Amino acid sequence: MAKTLYDTLGVAKGASQDEIKKAYRKLARQYHPDKNPGDKDAEDRFKEVQSAYDVLSDDEKRKQYDRFGATNGRPAPGGGQNVNFDFSGFDVGDLGDLFGGIFGGGSRGGTRAQRQPVRGDDVIAEVHLSFEDALHGSEVKVPVELTVSCRECGGTGARPGTAPVICPECNGRGVKAESQGLFALSQPCPRCRGNGTVIEQPCPRCNGSGRERRIKTYTVKIKPGVKDGTKIRLKAKGEAGEHGGPPGDLIVLTHVAASDTYERRGDDLIVPVPVSFSLATLGGKVEVPTPDGPVTLKIPAGSEDGKLLRIKGRGAPRLNGSGKGDVLARVRIQVPKRVNKKERELLEQLQELS
Ligand SMILES: [Zn+2]
Ligand SMILES: [Zn+2]
Repeated sequence: MAKTLYDTLGVAKGASQDEIKKAYRKLARQYHPDKNPGDKDAEDRFKEVQSAYDVLSDDEKRKQYDRFGATNGRPAPGGGQNVNFDFSGFDVGDLGDLFGGIFGGGSRGGTRAQRQPVRGDDVIAEVHLSFEDALHGSEVKVPVELTVSCRECGGTGARPGTAPVICPECNGRGVKAESQGLFALSQPCPRCRGNGTVIEQPCPRCNGSGRERRIKTYTVKIKPGVKDGTKIRLKAKGEAGEHGGPPGDLIVLTHVAASDTYERRGDDLIVPVPVSFSLATLGGKVEVPTPDGPVTLKIPAGSEDGKLLRIKGRGAPRLNGSGKGDVLARVRIQVPKRVNKKERELLEQLQELS
């Protein structure tokens, strides 16, 4: 034989409203999704209990159920099909959706809009990196202030040991019908503001909101080669979603300190290389610093001031892809401020020749 709604709540068919309420509260607490995270069976049981209570706590619906085994011609609750429950924060019930047909379509537009899943906001956190850390990669701790489920009540908003109860004003439907002659107008329930549940004893920590601001510290891997202004997106680490919506992302924005040695241009690093006039004229070898250590570079004869000489693959790691950029050595011809006697003689001879 199929399980009845009375079985679901574990009460006798003739149970009083008080007994039903008591049984409901006990079971709702036991199977509450916040207490059984990830437990599909508990979630199903919770839905069943909610649905059963919605019917049995309402004299009209209970009468109908006793007679027809269903309310409003709909299948008896508990089957679980098309039941749009929502366990983000504490928004149990959604019994309005379960029995959405009661007041006719469309009239619940306002409350329905509130219940649409809403994706959480993205959060931007800025990190400051040394030039070297940006080149070689590092791991940084990023503190982020987020709105999270209250630690005290687990997000229900109810004082620990208590649970939100079905709103007595609307019997959990979230809407109230007002009879006006032949028509029934429905509007969001003022008592529970459309939630279908009310908190009798609010949690002292969050004052019943079920949420609190909290600093979460994430450890973020910085890939080698990030630039000033690189955005690193960490999926689902932002603000929590509402009504079952997905969380937002955390976007880490990097600031990279300037280097005393290099000027960064994309993945290339430009480094000035002081070269004497004679070396630039005749050609020769100089040592050029790179992030992986100095490299000997050949300066071609006749190099002019400002000439860029490319040292392949010694620059910054490429973020998207493999390999590295280049180091560009910029020839800087040094003009001596002072010369000794010998140098002066040679320079004078050179001048006469040209
Ligand atoms: Zn709380
Ligand atoms: Zn209500």
